[in-house]
Amino acid sequence: MPIPAPLTEHLSNGSFGQKVTQLLESGYTNVTVRVQPARCRCGCGQVVPAGRKFINQAHYDRSKGLSPAHAEQLVARFRRGVPKRQMAREYGIALSTVKRLLRKQITM
Ligand SMILES: [Zn+2]
Repeated sequence: MPIPAPLTEHLSNGSFGQKVTQLLESGYTNVTVRVQPARCRCGCGQVVPAGRKFINQAHYDRSKGLSPAHAEQLVARFRRGVPKRQMAREYGIALSTVKRLLRKQITM
């Protein structure tokens, strides 16, 4: 009784080698994606802990396009009575971002 040898048949096939290469390459790609660390979304390129998008609040602020200098300016203007909504529009940030920045700056 002959022993079935489907693998041997595949091995004799020229495309088997290509198949193996594909499998190895796809496996390698999967591994690379899995171990690739998350980078801070602000674009600084630093690695953030798993599950986080930014290194800290300052990096989050930066991603919103407001530099520390602008944040100080914003607070100064707020103290002179400039409405938050107006500043949000001028700086191109969300009103909630303005409120958060003011809260943070004023409590410091
Ligand atoms: Zn960053």
